[in-house]
Amino acid sequence: MTSIKPSALLKGEGLPDYDKITPNEITKNIPLLIKDLNQKLNKLEEQLVKKLSTKSYLSWEDVMPQLYEIGEKLRWSWGVVSHLNAVCNSSELREVHSTQQPVIVRFSNQLAQSEVIYQALSNLKEYGCINNETQIRIIETELITMKNKGIGLKVDEKKLFNSRSERLAELSTIFSNNVLDASNSWSLLLKKHSEVAGLPERALETLSLAAKEAGDIAVGGNAPSASTGPWRVGLDLPRYIPFQTYAKNRPIREKVYRAFVSRASDGKLDNKKIIEEILALRNKQARQLGYKNWCEISLATKMADNEEAVETLLEELRSAAMPHAKKELAELLECAQRNGESEHFELSPWDISFWAEVLRKEKYDLDQEKLRPWFPLDQVLNGLFNLCKRLFEIDIQETKGVAPLWHEDVRFFNVKNLNGQNIASFYLDPFSRPASKRGGAWMDECLCRNQKGKDKIILPVAYLVCNQTPPIGNKPSLMSFEEVETLFHEFGHGLQHMLTTVNYPQAAGINNVEWDAVELASQFMENWCLEDQTISEIAIHWESKESLPKSEINKLRLSRTFNSGLATLRQIHFALTDLKLHSQWNEDSTISPDEMRRQIAKDTTVLAPIPEDQFLCAFSHIFAGGYAAGYYSYKWAEVLSSDAFAAFEEAGLSNKDEVRKIGKKYRDSILSLGGSRSPNQVFKKFRGRLPSTKALIRHSGLD
Ligand SMILES: [Zn+2]
Repeated sequence: MTSIKPSALLKGEGLPDYDKITPNEITKNIPLLIKDLNQKLNKLEEQLVKKLSTKSYLSWEDVMPQLYEIGEKLRWSWGVVSHLNAVCNSSELREVHSTQQPVIVRFSNQLAQSEVIYQALSNLKEYGCINNETQIRIIETELITMKNKGIGLKVDEKKLFNSRSERLAELSTIFSNNVLDASNSWSLLLKKHSEVAGLPERALETLSLAAKEAGDIAVGGNAPSASTGPWRVGLDLPRYIPFQTYAKNRPIREKVYRAFVSRASDGKLDNKKIIEEILALRNKQARQLGYKNWCEISLATKMADNEEAVETLLEELRSAAMPHAKKELAELLECAQRNGESEHFELSPWDISFWAEVLRKEKYDLDQEKLRPWFPLDQVLNGLFNLCKRLFEIDIQETKGVAPLWHEDVRFFNVKNLNGQNIASFYLDPFSRPASKRGGAWMDECLCRNQKGKDKIILPVAYLVCNQTPPIGNKPSLMSFEEVETLFHEFGHGLQHMLTTVNYPQAAGINNVEWDAVELASQFMENWCLEDQTISEIAIHWESKESLPKSEINKLRLSRTFNSGLATLRQIHFALTDLKLHSQWNEDSTISPDEMRRQIAKDTTVLAPIPEDQFLCAFSHIFAGGYAAGYYSYKWAEVLSSDAFAAFEEAGLSNKDEVRKIGKKYRDSILSLGGSRSPNQVFKKFRGRLPSTKALIRHSGLD
């Protein structure tokens, strides 16, 4: 007797069965999925050809639901594979992912380049039988996206365009694997106390744990321990950042810094040629489509009108930040000299984090590491959920056993209206797992809100992924304040995804929101971390249950604008480099991307990058993520988020009724409308006017 096992990967809807999806399953089923989708697409095209020849105009129902279904099946299944590749990476999975990817890209392109569908969408737009604003916006986005994927190209040109897309997808995977492998392949064993002097206990624990995992042993054959060593420092952020911030041993700090900034820049894992190939291919594709460069393609679908508008905003911020940054650097130098360095001492890049921490302590007597015990994960979640209740009138509860999980650290939560009605859910995968999980933090969509029938609504489900410090021994995950802010940030994205009221999935949540406006909801949430009630609820010592003293909270507040000139410049440096690489660099350029970066650095840094600094080789945002010619979006959206938070400040953050009222307004506009209206319209609905940069300049202390 044989029973046919239903394929977890072809289910195409609902919560994924993460316990059943294996590399084998993927290899077997992705081709079947593509075959099925091809048939569906052919059928839809046949129907549309028939309708276009007999009817003068089409209706939404003639095209959009079927089209969405095809795209959604693909997104769902491949989304599951990509998600696993990011959070449970293994050599088998990686191999399967890269083997199947070309087929996926080919089908996506075929879908995006269907002449029949393009005609059908143009017909929908032109004959104006659609007057629903959301539908119009969805169609316009589809049309421009299709154009940018090569529709309208002649057969040969299209073939070339597609082969370039496939190569680009391949290159971005190689790029990020190189970064991951380069980070993992370097580490340094430290045996002497003098080599780890200055490191807080927690960092020592992490390093000795890494030594233990690497099979290192202490003198006398004992297992490594935090107090006796040995310790192994590496390039993953939970080890790298504390080391740069606290290690007093300057030569080792320098060694680790040099290894970090030169990741993936030589040998087998060298990304330099990959970068040039990516930029050249993007450029060629842009010109095939009639754009001047990739930057124009990027901005065609963004809130910013053109490159000049972006440059203007960046230049405003740069000129405000530069004098502050110079002053801040001078203060760091004075601080170093005051603390034992000679009068001839010069700052190097590996000194910045270290002396910044010393100066921060002097100025605010703030020791971020010492604050960790006040931010245990569960307490932070508690305060975050209460904040959401106050602002948006929702209840968030953890639920066990409902959703299959991909790792034992992952948790699943439901989001309910105050009347108990379920409106959304999310997974939380909080901890760093350097060997198998991509770095950074992100929110991704598992399921989108979708009105499927009169009484059937699919509720949104989000993935929230962080890389914060894991629990050690009997201690829970004790978060740095920065990790708290990151969690709030990703949660903000999650809220926009989950609290949407748009019933068209193409414009629900973060869908169809312009890239440069999409960080509004996330950065907005960061502003709340230090609001009186929130901080009093998230910051409670995990052992003593004491609140974080007021004086410490004040220091955190004051320190928010500490070195903000340097921090602003850093973001502008990245943003401008990204922009210029995609508008000015091409394969005929006489300078390399790195040289172009160094030219830009002259006006956007106060300490020139050292020769080994090959930051571009690990700039995954633009070479392995979706931020190409769009990194500026962080700053652009920060203008929006600061201005949105200022609405609450103006009413008074302690005024409960007003906060609730404005919170409701925020939920009903920014969170609810998502991509169904233009960002300016959505913002105006909340604020009653267009965005202003005043609040950001004030919040950054650059006024
Ligand atoms: Zn974000």
